[in-house]
Amino acid sequence: MIRSIYLFALIALLALGAVWLADNPGAVTLRWDNYVVETTVVVLVLATALLALSLLVLLQIFFWLKSRPGKLGGAFSARRRGKGLEAISNGMVAIAAGDAEEARKAAVAAEKHLKGEPLTLLLAAQAAELNEDDRAAQIYYDRMTERKDTEFLGLRGLIARAKAENNLPLAIEQTLKADSLKPGTEWVQKELLELYLTVRDYMSAEGVLNRTARGKAAKSGKVKRLKAVIAYQLALEKEQAGEKDAAAGYAQKAHDLAPDFVPASILAIRHSVPGRKQDRLLNEAWRHAPHPDIAEAIQALVPGESPKDWYLRAKRLIAPLKPENRETLIVMGKAALAAQEWGEARKFLSKAAEVDPSSSIYRLLADLEETANADAAAARNWIIKSAEAPQDPLWICSSCGRQDRHWTAHCPTCETFDGQSWRKADRAEEEPEVISAEIVKEIEAPAAE
Ligand SMILES: [Zn+2]
Repeated sequence: MIRSIYLFALIALLALGAVWLADNPGAVTLRWDNYVVETTVVVLVLATALLALSLLVLLQIFFWLKSRPGKLGGAFSARRRGKGLEAISNGMVAIAAGDAEEARKAAVAAEKHLKGEPLTLLLAAQAAELNEDDRAAQIYYDRMTERKDTEFLGLRGLIARAKAENNLPLAIEQTLKADSLKPGTEWVQKELLELYLTVRDYMSAEGVLNRTARGKAAKSGKVKRLKAVIAYQLALEKEQAGEKDAAAGYAQKAHDLAPDFVPASILAIRHSVPGRKQDRLLNEAWRHAPHPDIAEAIQALVPGESPKDWYLRAKRLIAPLKPENRETLIVMGKAALAAQEWGEARKFLSKAAEVDPSSSIYRLLADLEETANADAAAARNWIIKSAEAPQDPLWICSSCGRQDRHWTAHCPTCETFDGQSWRKADRAEEEPEVISAEIVKEIEAPAAE
């Protein structure tokens, strides 16, 4: 109410002033240098008021801008950011789709709008990889390792690069760095283990396994098998260095970890001394994985043994363990044959041919006919049969199909670690060269167009 009265009084006063001014226009003369301005007081008052008002508005705008710094700049950078993020998202899609050129373009756009950001670096590195520009990829990964928030990721890229260039010592160095940055990260441990195995540093590989696989994980079959193979390799190293006791310890450890791991059983048997422990070892080895080489190692424990004595020992040690198994039957058949126990030999070998025939069984039967009965015709019949029979088992690489008489930790052809298993080759596997040649032809054909 009072405010309205004030306002009313002010308007009335202004109106009065205006009327008075209109009645007494007066004259104002401005003289400046050669210019002369003549006007009335009303115009001067109005011009002054207008000028004051404009100044006020300008001042308001100035303070408003000053009080909110970066508002204009912010709008700019938000737009840049939006464009940068769009480029990164396009780039990631292009990388996933394997579109090298599109990825490269997106990386350039991202670099323009979001230079030096972690995601930009990652995109640039991946785009470089896709374009097979190893040098650029290396540079971007290096730059990533210089920033705290991308160091770990950058190291991962550098490890992959070092591996691709087959610079394994460098790959190990980078992996150890990654391990110290984030101790216990799963992929780092896995990488480290694989690298140590590839460079045959079994002692370090064992260290990684002992550190990472603890508790329940340590009891898994896969980890135990891995530990067993590593222990076996260490046993071989110790054996070569002339450290017999250490070799024996590692061999026994390998056998205990994986009783069905034939090479470890053989080595443990070779290093064993007669006694109850040895009896238990032979028993376990044969029960878990009957294998002709284990029988050979058991036979070698008594040098210079007569065939008759070996047959009797095998009958006591091996025959009762897995009496129906083809390997048991073959070992017993062979021993009986050498000991000239014809009837026994025939019994074992006929059973083996019945259970699980293979060419070696038929060849032994041919031997038997020739030596026991001098029956050349019967022997020839077995030989013909042996040619058509399934092959005997061999160590076969699961990854390249290579077949070997002896086990090795790394496949000599494809380097796969612990990839060999003792089995009969499938029909398709019997001529691996022919198959791989066909595959090569198929792969090469479209490229030649
Ligand atoms: Zn292989």
